Amino acid sequence: MSGTGLMSTYRQQDVAFAKGEGVWLYDTEGKKYLDAISGIAVCGLGHCHPRITRAIQDQAARLVHTSNLYRITNQELLGKRLCEVSGMDACFFGNSGAEANECAIKIARLYGHGKEIEKPAIIVMDHSFHGRTLATLSATGSRKVQAGFEPLVTGFVRAPYNDLDAVKTIAQNNPNVVAILVEPVQGEGGIHIASDEYMKGLRAICDERGWLLMLDEIQTGNGRTGTYFAYQQMGFLPDVVTTAKGLGNGLPIGACIARGVAAQTFKPGNHGSTYGGNPLCCGVALEVVNTLVEENLPARAKALGERMVQGFRERLEGADYVTEIRGKGLMIGIELKEPCAELVMLARAQGLLINVTSDNVIRLLPALTMTDGEADQLVDQLSKLIKVWAADERSKPRK
Ligand SMILES: *Cc1c(COP(=O)(O)O)cnc(C)c1O
Repeated sequence: MSGTGLMSTYRQQDVAFAKGEGVWLYDTEGKKYLDAISGIAVCGLGHCHPRITRAIQDQAARLVHTSNLYRITNQELLGKRLCEVSGMDACFFGNSGAEANECAIKIARLYGHGKEIEKPAIIVMDHSFHGRTLATLSATGSRKVQAGFEPLVTGFVRAPYNDLDAVKTIAQNNPNVVAILVEPVQGEGGIHIASDEYMKGLRAICDERGWLLMLDEIQTGNGRTGTYFAYQQMGFLPDVVTTAKGLGNGLPIGACIARGVAAQTFKPGNHGSTYGGNPLCCGVALEVVNTLVEENLPARAKALGERMVQGFRERLEGADYVTEIRGKGLMIGIELKEPCAELVMLARAQGLLINVTSDNVIRLLPALTMTDGEADQLVDQLSKLIKVWAADERSKPRK
């Protein structure tokens, strides 16, 4: 027994935070940290942004929950705003990213049955991450996430990421495919960025075949990659886009946003959620969207991301322990030649919060509101740390 009263689902670091402000967190002992992970791309506006704090307080004092038995004004306002921002037609609100993807998967299946395909299938990618519910873990391209939970949900066909020919081959051989579900940038998978040609190619195949193009923008959405949604840099619209994380800046909300036939697939009774779209989460998410747009933060993410990637390249490029430095807006990955999980602990000791994913990729997802000075401090501190760590690694005896 752990003695914490909790199931041991997480490998947690032994630190807890008591206060946050912007990109800064303070632990229960009062130590200050530069937060370069933002609660995994959730607090895009930084911790306790004044507009968001006020929105939470005002709405909490007015009305928190009524149920989807009744119309919910904030849900309708948020739905309209997200449709404006995304160029899409209609939203469904749940409470998490996985739920947003469940909604997309259900739309695809219903759409398939509408075309009299009895066993509709969805193409998903290697190294993808779509969530921890049974359907979304089955869609996820990671054995670690799936192991022990078999039988998996069927109806997913896997393809290598960024490989258009692989999808074309599936198209020729599998008449059951009805949709593609893909991340424009794989976050958990190690910050792998799809090429524009690949994404446009997927759009073209979907148009040709009558498939739905469904983008998982749970991590890439809400301004993080330089536009409100990543597809807005690619010159097309998807049929479905899912988002969550940055949408609530910490309040639990996920959205499945659809267009055209995909927006009209559900009929009353097909889908629902007790909490989903409640007045509190929708009121706060509306303030998040408005703040991101009014303060031009997607463009700010692009500029900051370029500044940081350039900074890392100046300090680290050519170092033989660095495989690649890549980024799209404020999704930044520094891939090292060796597993580097211990960097997380070393950085924390110095008051810097980072993340390592896929064993050897340092992942940074800082707030879109950070200053140039804070970005430079982050680049400087982390670059130095990587150099010291690499020198230490080298002096260790080989296993
Ligand atoms: C985080 C994430 C999810 C799952 O979101 P939850 O809110 O944890 O359910 C799904 N897809 C992507 C791309 C994510 O980054």
